[in-house]
Amino acid sequence: MNDHRKLGRELSLFDTDPLIGAGLPYWLPDGAVVRHALEEYLRSAESRAGYQHVYSPVLAKKELYEISGHWAHYRDDMYPPMRLGGEQIVLRPSLCPHHAMIYRSRGRSYRELPLRLAELGGMYRAELSGVLGGLTRVRAIQLNDAHIFCPLDQVAAEASAALDMIRAAYRALGVRPVSYRLSLPGPGEKYVEDPQMWERAVGLLASVLESAGVPYEEAAGEAAFYGPKIDVQVADEAGREASMSTIQVDFYMPAQFGLYYVGPDGARRRPVMVHRSIVGSMERAIAHLIEVHGGAFPPWLAPVQLVIMPVSEAELGPAGELRQQAAGRGLRVQVSRPERGSLGARIRAARLVPYQAVIGPSEAAAGQVALRLRDGRRLDPRPAGDALARIAALIDAHHAGVWEEEIEQQRGRLPVS
Ligand SMILES: [Zn+2]
Repeated sequence: MNDHRKLGRELSLFDTDPLIGAGLPYWLPDGAVVRHALEEYLRSAESRAGYQHVYSPVLAKKELYEISGHWAHYRDDMYPPMRLGGEQIVLRPSLCPHHAMIYRSRGRSYRELPLRLAELGGMYRAELSGVLGGLTRVRAIQLNDAHIFCPLDQVAAEASAALDMIRAAYRALGVRPVSYRLSLPGPGEKYVEDPQMWERAVGLLASVLESAGVPYEEAAGEAAFYGPKIDVQVADEAGREASMSTIQVDFYMPAQFGLYYVGPDGARRRPVMVHRSIVGSMERAIAHLIEVHGGAFPPWLAPVQLVIMPVSEAELGPAGELRQQAAGRGLRVQVSRPERGSLGARIRAARLVPYQAVIGPSEAAAGQVALRLRDGRRLDPRPAGDALARIAALIDAHHAGVWEEEIEQQRGRLPVS
């Protein structure tokens, strides 16, 4: 079984230090590469979908969270306030109130809605040290977050578009949702009291799931305190479920913060806030990717994408040239030199690298490479430029597999060298 904590250390992706503290992992260079690639994918997908990126501070006055409702409903998970002068400052438990402030920073017209604000930002949870570990139970979280401010009649379309983004991301990541959940309030005082609001928001989200044609289950007691959610669930190998992605409809915070826009008739109207996250936190998403793929990430996420293996010293020249060309195409590339061992040993050492380019005397003479794929497939020698172009195209397309399907179908016809 792939435990992300064990693999994370073995593959030098992340680690922790008791002096930094429990639940506060740091990212090592290879882990940072994976995370950076994921962040880039998200920012680019969001930009193309009409989101605007912002940055907001990870601290704020306690008052902000009193108004948002976090202090009343979520205080047990928040860090105690820090006194500074006459003020009380807290680490934020979520980004929502900050984005509400950005919305409110100037007058808004119906013409600029839906307004989609996105941020990959830090939030903090006061977890007890006994339950902390790896990347899944942490005290500092980097969230792939966004808030869409829009009129009620745009909510369903915005939530549907967010669901499409989630499903596209899962295809690129090679991740399979185990279930879609409609998270509803349960008994207790955890939820804001407004039965009509809940009914309307639940109806909207249910219609989004139904029009997407995905089967879903209802889960009482799993809603946010301010509104219901669609949660996309993933499972680890032991079958333990966790929510990775979420779409939430919120009538509460816009009212709490007095948000409004000016409608076509000049009257002030209240927007709805749609909270959504495509992959949740960087920590949980990458923990899941490590476990699902056993460290063999989709090529676009792999810390090293291509290893070049000259068979002997004589091919070091062409190997160096290929390395330069690959780096010029933006590939993360390394040369595994002959002194590191036999070709077999070097191939085993590079078992998680999606593409291995072997250059022997005949390939060097012909300007070719013999590509080996991580899954053991061997392709015919081909011109080096052609091989790099194919690899770069698959990576640019965020293809979850290592090669195109038609190549896979030709597998039986490829010579086994
Ligand atoms: Zn939010």
